[in-house]
Amino acid sequence: MIIDFHTHSFPDKIAESAIEKLSRTAHIKAFADGSANGILNSMAEGGIDISVMLPVAVKASNVESMNTYSAQFNEMYAEKGIFSFGCIHPDYENWKDELNRVAQLGLKGIKIHPVYQGVNQNDIRYIRILEKAGELGLIVVAHAGLDIGFPGAVNSTPSMIADAVRQVGPVKFVAAHMGSWMLWDEVDELLSLPHVYVDTAFSLGIITPRENDSHYIEHTNALMTDEKFCKLVRRFGADRVLFGSDNPWDSQKEAVNKVKNSGLEQSELDKIFCTNAKRILGI
Ligand SMILES: [Zn+2]
Repeated sequence: MIIDFHTHSFPDKIAESAIEKLSRTAHIKAFADGSANGILNSMAEGGIDISVMLPVAVKASNVESMNTYSAQFNEMYAEKGIFSFGCIHPDYENWKDELNRVAQLGLKGIKIHPVYQGVNQNDIRYIRILEKAGELGLIVVAHAGLDIGFPGAVNSTPSMIADAVRQVGPVKFVAAHMGSWMLWDEVDELLSLPHVYVDTAFSLGIITPRENDSHYIEHTNALMTDEKFCKLVRRFGADRVLFGSDNPWDSQKEAVNKVKNSGLEQSELDKIFCTNAKRILGI
């Protein structure tokens, strides 16, 4: 079984424009149309059994309606193998009630994005969210490191993550993109924090440029090499690594192949593709 812990889709009405906008800003190819059916097709192609969808609230005013939508989404799609987490925004006033509601709605976790949300990961507004999420048993998946769409924005570094996690009770915290996108030389700061997991999303191989876009002729599109990736997996230990594709920003099928062919042992792959995710999702 393969579980993809990091995917995105959008309501059908806005999928096309959202994908176009994000793809243009980041100069990257989209590998799916951003709809739920797009992910289902991609899962069939890539042999993925379950995809976890991670919605990002870019505005505090969107939080409530997005969580209601995610719960409705799960009623339709969970059986088909996709289910959505909830979201929260650090400026959302009713964050405490809303996290209670997220748990009541049966959403298994929340996604936060310090760069899109413009708040540092170790700000008190996030710390209190982490504390409450931990109490409720909600998994927190956080965008970690730099962001391809916001060059220069530094709201989430390994030391900010470590600082935040150390201040709260146990919370299952997933630092996406192998602990911090493009800050991989700093992620040792996270090693001593046993509840911090990482996902493999958008970290291995190369970035696929958008068609007819010259950005990556001038800028490097290199992510981690196989060697660096395997070393990093082993620094954390395979028990703390979750497979994620970041689809539509990478092909699920290709993302699976890249991890499979990176040089890890089968026992490590089994944990990364399946058993770790099952354990933390409680499925
Ligand atoms: Zn993502």
